[in-house]
Amino acid sequence: MRKSETNDSSVDVIIVGAGFAGMYMLYYLRKKGLKARILEAGDDVGGTWYWNRYPGARCDVESMAYSYSFDEELQQEWNWSTKFSYQPEILDYLKTVADRFDLNQDIFLKSRVLSAEYEEEVNIWRVRTDTGVEYSAKFCVMATGCLSVPKNPKIDGLERFEGETFYTWNWPKEKVDLAGKRVGVIGTGSSGVQCIPVIATDASHLSVFQRTPNFSVPAFNRALEKYEADTVKKTYKQLREKARNSIAGDFPDEGTITLGELPINLQRHHLEESWKKGGFNMQYPFTDLLTDAKVNEVVGEFVREKIRSIVKDPKTAEALSPRNHPFGTKRMCVEDDYYQTFNRKNVSLIDLSASPIEEIVSLGVKTTTKLHHLDILVLATGFDAMTGALTAIDIRGRGGVALRDKWKNGARTFLGMTIAEFPNFFTVTGPGSPSVLCNMVSAIEQSVEWIGDCIKYVEEKGYGGIEARRSAENKWTAHVSDAADQTLYPLANSWYVGANISDKARGFMPYVNGLKVYEETCQREADADYQNFTLTRKIQ
Ligand code: FAD
Ligand code: NAP
Repeated sequence: MRKSETNDSSVDVIIVGAGFAGMYMLYYLRKKGLKARILEAGDDVGGTWYWNRYPGARCDVESMAYSYSFDEELQQEWNWSTKFSYQPEILDYLKTVADRFDLNQDIFLKSRVLSAEYEEEVNIWRVRTDTGVEYSAKFCVMATGCLSVPKNPKIDGLERFEGETFYTWNWPKEKVDLAGKRVGVIGTGSSGVQCIPVIATDASHLSVFQRTPNFSVPAFNRALEKYEADTVKKTYKQLREKARNSIAGDFPDEGTITLGELPINLQRHHLEESWKKGGFNMQYPFTDLLTDAKVNEVVGEFVREKIRSIVKDPKTAEALSPRNHPFGTKRMCVEDDYYQTFNRKNVSLIDLSASPIEEIVSLGVKTTTKLHHLDILVLATGFDAMTGALTAIDIRGRGGVALRDKWKNGARTFLGMTIAEFPNFFTVTGPGSPSVLCNMVSAIEQSVEWIGDCIKYVEEKGYGGIEARRSAENKWTAHVSDAADQTLYPLANSWYVGANISDKARGFMPYVNGLKVYEETCQREADADYQNFTLTRKIQ
């Protein structure tokens, strides 16, 4: 039985969120001799993997890498059944971790944090939840997730639909019966691309409403053979080190050659090899993929050719072919049977760029050309990424300054983990960190360890608090933006720049220079006794 609704101000740190980040934060702080509590909105641990239960939901970073590295016994004992595990298995893994390390006693479930306020006079964060209970602690860590607050799709008439409506981010725990039903899916990002092939096999008819096609590459998911897992396990330590010293925090080699360094007659073969390896290997065929538009176009056209070779109807193939953004500048989708699904007789693609949705009516989706009759509507319309979970909470720092106001014209952080005017306050995977451009578990482990070490330092040295200097925040925010401008990333209207949310300030949020460079920068800061922070004396 997990606890809830108990007020307890005897902890050093309040953590918000019980996903990969919050759970490791709790474990790490305990290891450092500090007391912490997690407040979690859901009725169980797991974060992303608790909420996103839609058919076909799974990771697209291989599970042997998309898992915690902090405990050798855990990583040796745990067995993944497929290369890319499905949501139930990842959730089971996270619940097992919570049990194994006795985390549940410090996790308060069904506790959505509504506000967090810094009280300067007493140097305390006061955190209020929807249970009416208030918690307080000297430090507050937001492990609230980058992709945990859904975007409001703002489609007229959504509430008038008389069939059933489901959101991929909050799919029911009970089985949804799709057999014999006419189903519509709106959205063709990673969530849509994963659920569409699975829904197509059950539904009597599936209508896919696509506004913008995305680049999608095959996962070639399959059972993970014991010998394969054993091979990884033998060298786990080295592989984890390799991941932390890479750009994307993952195991695959990230490439060493530019397109121009390969003779023309070998370029095609090289791309085929990357394609065959599956998943994110397609992101690393050439080191200049994301910096040289011409190189990028070669790869983009290679993928479009693949789409044309799979999808039988040329018109549908063309509609599925991305042409408005360079390859990899939006989060690449990793699929199984996605393009093949459009060869099925019971599936139709509705190209919203040609005939936009006018409104949802009681019977289905009405576009400018047709009413599509539906029994079930699935919304795979995405998230208010990176900042949404933070601005959903009324967070107030020194002098009552509201984070929502501070970030009105764009998120500003120092190292993606700290914010000027918000003392003793940390964000894991916040804007300005490499998080979403990485295998996020590697990125999370790095950030959690840095934050935990920082809190321990403040406590050990007897300081009252630590706060990023505004000058450091300005410099880091400009650096994050400049680094992105050296790449093709900002050319896409992606959620990386906040383009999917109508009233969000546009700015590239993740840090593009990779996990290794980022970790070295963070470590230098710690080694220099946090010289870019103000450390305050303890209040007696
Ligand atoms: P989350 O898992 O999002 O957990 C945050 C928790 O905070 C949630 O449980 C939420 O309920 C809670 N919370 C938020 N606000 C509040 C509040 N106000 N009060 C209380 N609790 C709150 N990344 C990869 O690297 N590889 C993948 O293959 C991959 N697949 C993904 C698949 C899906 C469907 C999605 C949506 C994301 C995927 N991601 C993937 C990104 C994924 O979010 C991260 O890998 C990782 O799970 C994030 O962990 P987290 O703990 O930081 O955040
Ligand atoms: P997403 O990538 O933002 O995709 C949302 C989709 O919904 C887009 O196709 C978008 O079209 C469409 N959409 C939004 N509002 C719409 C509207 N009003 N009308 C019509 N279409 C609309 O969201 P996501 O698919 O949930 O993925 C988000 C991120 O989560 C991913 O990028 C990835 O990082 C992570 N994720 C990973 C996996 C995985 O494979 N492991 C699975 C799911 C999610 P436009 O592009 O035209 O706006």
